[in-house]
Amino acid sequence: MNISMTCECGNTTGFFSAGEETEDRAEWVEIEDDDRFKLTTDARGLKVQCKFCSRIYVIASTDHP
Ligand SMILES: [Zn+2]
Repeated sequence: MNISMTCECGNTTGFFSAGEETEDRAEWVEIEDDDRFKLTTDARGLKVQCKFCSRIYVIASTDHP
C-alpha cells in the first residue's frame, strides 16, 4: 500500500503500514506526519483538512447502498 497526499498549498505527507491487522484482516495505515493533515470521517467519507492552509478535502465513500 502506498498513499501520498499533497495539498494545493504544497503541504505533503505519506502514509505507512503499521504492520498490524484488525479482526477482519484489514491492515492499519497511519499518516506519517499528523501535524500536517487532520483526518476525520463523516457520512460522505474521509475528510482531510490541511493544517497549513485549512483547505478541506472529502474522499468520497464508494460504498453506495
Ligand atoms: Zn494546504
